[in-house]
Amino acid sequence: MNSPPQSIAVLGSTGSIGCGTLEVVSHAENRMNVQALSSHSRLREAVRQAHDYEPRWLIAADAGQAAEFDWTDLPADTELLTGPDALEEVAASDDIDTVVAAIVGSAGLRSTWTAVSCGKRVALANKETMVVAGPLVRMTADQNGAELLPVDSELCAIFQALQTGRRDDVARVILTASGGPFRNRAADELENVTVADALAHPTWKMGKKISVDSATMMNKALEIIEARWFFDLEPDQIEVVVHPQSIVHSMVEYVDGSVISQMSPPDMRLPIQYALTYPVRAPGPVERMDFETPFQLQFHPPDRQRFPALDLGYEVARMGGTSGAVVNAANEVAVEEFLQGRLQFTKIVPACRAILENHNYEPNPSLSRLLELDGWARQEVLRWVAT
Ligand code: NAD
Ligand code: MG
Repeated sequence: MNSPPQSIAVLGSTGSIGCGTLEVVSHAENRMNVQALSSHSRLREAVRQAHDYEPRWLIAADAGQAAEFDWTDLPADTELLTGPDALEEVAASDDIDTVVAAIVGSAGLRSTWTAVSCGKRVALANKETMVVAGPLVRMTADQNGAELLPVDSELCAIFQALQTGRRDDVARVILTASGGPFRNRAADELENVTVADALAHPTWKMGKKISVDSATMMNKALEIIEARWFFDLEPDQIEVVVHPQSIVHSMVEYVDGSVISQMSPPDMRLPIQYALTYPVRAPGPVERMDFETPFQLQFHPPDRQRFPALDLGYEVARMGGTSGAVVNAANEVAVEEFLQGRLQFTKIVPACRAILENHNYEPNPSLSRLLELDGWARQEVLRWVAT
């Protein structure tokens, strides 16, 4: 009853997952204690969070922006740390039990890596980490006794469904996809969609990068790769089905034909909370399913012609090695170019494919090689966009 509160570092605390995490902590009363917050550019918001959660550390990950910011309002008991190395320093601290990896993109890789290397519980929202370095992260987590728990709702659903049977009896997993804002758009209409169209997700409220990923269905491609390494699945054991209501978060099919799904309203605070309390389940801020009002659940196969990201995701899941790092980095930059109005929506996936095909594939890269290729792919995709 009187065990000390779980001490949590929320890396990426000012983002959509970070804010959801803080709401979960608020509902947990004295069972969780936020010791560290981090932000890249929303420093005013981070200071506000520091007043509410009284962490020991606040990390401003971008040293340049930190230097220009007026820190007068930072609470006296919160120590300011700046620069990306501070993320690793905090992730390694003996005073942290759990790291919530909620930074977007491969910028979250090093701190997540440090946390698994130090045997922490890691609530992993940062799917890019698994896409870039899945086999290395899995191995390092297992070697160091880290508890890697998925926050991505689909992976959380699979994680839960896998608890209902023997691992050897799993036939396949079925990832559900909302289909994003362009589920019903004709192929030729996709060429001229605007940033505002792409950010208008029908069921989830998320950061910009993952919202665009959902619109291209690159998000599902990244999840195919993430699930492959997270659960050690063969790529052909992973299927994608479009489910516009985002109620069934994914499914596991066993060899006897039984399909086990996890359902809940689309609210990321549930998978965040489960990753923090596992194996315990606790009441939280998430609304219950309402079965008093009639509703329907629909499922249909994805359109792989209109959404070529899916085939790319399967290819990368099969290739492994360096392929995830280059496709992920290319996608991050291509999405940013789209958001800045310099790249057409329908060119995002071809840009990623071009970089994949131009790179010197290696089957067993080290972490430093993957980080090097991440940098290389970022330059290459800018060149591709420019020509
Ligand atoms: P977001 O853009 O809302 O927030 C990103 C956070 O990362 C912010 O706190 C920002 O300050 C920080 N950050 C950005 N760039 C950084 C950098 N270079 N160095 C250090 N910190 C940096 O993103 P989000 O929607 O919360 O997504 C976070 C992660 O969770 C992503 O990997 C995303 O794929 C994953 N995820 C999100 C959702 C969702 O519903 N939002 C669902 C599933 C998975
Ligand atoms: Mg997801």
